Amino acid sequence: MRILITEDDAALAEALQFSLKQSGYAVDWVSNGAAADEALKGDVFGLLILDLGLPKLDGFEVLRRLRRRNSGLPVLILSGREDPEEKVLGLDLGADDYLVKPFSLNELRARVRALLRRGQGNAVALVSYGGLSFDTVGRVASIDGRALTLSVQETGVLETLLARFGRVVSKEQLVEQLYSYDKEVSHNAIEVYVHRLRKKLAGVGVTVRTLYGRGYLLDYFNS
Ligand code: CA
Repeated sequence: MRILITEDDAALAEALQFSLKQSGYAVDWVSNGAAADEALKGDVFGLLILDLGLPKLDGFEVLRRLRRRNSGLPVLILSGREDPEEKVLGLDLGADDYLVKPFSLNELRARVRALLRRGQGNAVALVSYGGLSFDTVGRVASIDGRALTLSVQETGVLETLLARFGRVVSKEQLVEQLYSYDKEVSHNAIEVYVHRLRKKLAGVGVTVRTLYGRGYLLDYFNS
């Protein structure tokens, strides 16, 4: 799951990035509103964390433009001060949640998890197909109740495929979900993660199918 942080306080942005990357998310950071507006047009993010006081374009305007494009992207606003008017305006413009600085990183992570769940359209934390279950809060996969050992990348691939169960996901989409702008990832690497994941899912009743030239889909296994 890929998250965009828009924050002009570099120290705070760094702390947020570190914390969210630790939780296994791919995280991008921009430091002004115009860059955020541009990045959001690409439509590859699962969540926007948005500071209000920003150079070039303020957070309200970024949000206004996002919603004008009919994007339903979950948005968590970060505000520098406890101002009820500001909060109301942010929520009216279509923000989903609101945090006043300073906040604890634990609280931020909890809100991020909740927003991502809602964004995926499942308020339930556990999704199950066949013998496979995935806890979207803890991001832990299990088979018949036994936790499955997956790398961060394998977890990301599985999470992305599960969110689109039965539908095709291209390699490009997997690359975008797994990595931030600053990292290069090859399609070959994706093939390796899928290969490992497929082995670990053997006998579960679901499998990763390859559709040559199109991508992958997670589907029930029948042979
Ligand atoms: Ca600011």
